[in-house]
Amino acid sequence: MPKQQIHYDVIVIGAGPAGYVSAIRCAQLGLKTACVDNWRNSKLQSSLGGTYLNAGCVSSIALLESAKIYHLLNHEIDSHGIHAENISMDIAQMMQRKDKIIETLSNKIVDIFAHHKISRIHAQAKMLNARQVEITPLDHSAPSIIQAKNIILAAGSSPIDLSCAPIDNEFIIDSTTALSLNSVPKKLGIIGAGVIGLELANIWSRLGSEIILLEAQENFLTLPDQQISREAYRIYTQQGLEMRLGARVVSTKKSHKKVTVEYQDNEGLHCLRVDKLIVASGRKPNTENLAAEEANLMLDENGFVHVDENCLTTLPGVYAIGDLTSLGPMLAHKGIEEGVFVAEQIAGIYTPINYDILPSVIYTEPEIAWVGQTEQALRAIGENIKIGTFPLSAATRSHVMGNPEGLVKIIAHADTDTILGVHIIGAQASELIAEAVLAMEFSACSEDLARTIHAHPTISEALQEAALSLEKRTLHLPVGKLPS
Ligand code: NAD
Repeated sequence: MPKQQIHYDVIVIGAGPAGYVSAIRCAQLGLKTACVDNWRNSKLQSSLGGTYLNAGCVSSIALLESAKIYHLLNHEIDSHGIHAENISMDIAQMMQRKDKIIETLSNKIVDIFAHHKISRIHAQAKMLNARQVEITPLDHSAPSIIQAKNIILAAGSSPIDLSCAPIDNEFIIDSTTALSLNSVPKKLGIIGAGVIGLELANIWSRLGSEIILLEAQENFLTLPDQQISREAYRIYTQQGLEMRLGARVVSTKKSHKKVTVEYQDNEGLHCLRVDKLIVASGRKPNTENLAAEEANLMLDENGFVHVDENCLTTLPGVYAIGDLTSLGPMLAHKGIEEGVFVAEQIAGIYTPINYDILPSVIYTEPEIAWVGQTEQALRAIGENIKIGTFPLSAATRSHVMGNPEGLVKIIAHADTDTILGVHIIGAQASELIAEAVLAMEFSACSEDLARTIHAHPTISEALQEAALSLEKRTLHLPVGKLPS
């Protein structure tokens, strides 16, 4: 006799930031919710949080914290009059610390799910139609079917494979393995100087690897404002990262426990021999086996789930959020906001997302963060703009912290003074950007920021000073000496 089907108001597929947040918000709104997720950690146990928590951003920033301390003790501490000798690294313990952080945070999600009575299902999910989801236990025992009035697809993304550099996870590794190595590679090649490539480079270079990034594009970091990208390039290369731009990897060969990478640039073919090679060439949405063919889930030309501005797919009651769609960039906080947005829509509340005011962060040291438009994009559409900049080298607090590198740049409309974009490279840029996001959400002018009292000395003053510099009245930099 077929098993009786369990009925929910909402089934969420995927428990990354988009999916687990969506499940929590659905439950808060009184909806009977199930969340199906197939993540298995190294102990083959369920671990909520998706790539972001288990093998992405959280791992990356946890390791960067450790790497910064190691680097500080080896290279920077003497200037404080503190002499540290016999500094050694226990990489296994460093990884254990990272894993403990992941476990703690994942368990917190389990607790919140339990509090809200969300059914947590550790299984492979496949949408059969707009109402039914097949769930297959990970031990491949017999599948069952659950039903809901609404389905939220939040299955995330995975690394794009490069046929010229097939992953073996020993010598040619993906970003997940690159966050759990058990030794420091002497010479580390990275394909792709995008967000992931740079974040990994920042960790391993501080732990002692020689890094060579091979980037197919001629221009470095095209998403942020180009003034910030130029500053980033200068700082990273000064820190020892070797960046080869316009370098497209065409083949790889493994021999004698090393990888030979062949790449093409303007001058022809070159070879590079490294101990390990990380492939960080972008991510693709996890749509394979997400829905049965008969479900008719429509994908767009790039393989993302096709959605309208409300994250609704072409199937009634079926939403897609996070990395699965091309609405905005692949960012955890974009997925989180979409998770809340669709949960509220299902409950009859409509509070759309303002994708124009979405912060982006690159978690390197220094960090890069931005919100709104770049100078280049605004000039390209002929917008009448004015620009204010303030170098962190002129901020008292950065000096005290021994970290004076970086820049804050504010772009405002020349006539209305409305802030159109804020771009930061420097210590704690990921925290500073929140003030700019809030200002822009309230349609602030640069003068509002310039007249807002900031505690002194703080790094956040650099935002106020950059706003003052729009009218050439910075206080901690001689006027006339503003960087161009
Ligand atoms: P990316 O698109 O940012 O960078 C990949 C780079 O690889 C590109 O610059 C591309 O030109 C290059 N490339 C591709 N094939 C190549 C080849 N054969 N040879 C040389 N270079 C090649 O992708 P990513 O860094 O993998 O990140 C994936 C997504 O995840 C992005 O959308 C990113 O924003 C997101 N993400 C964000 C964060 C964050 O918010 N801090 C962290 C991790 C990932």
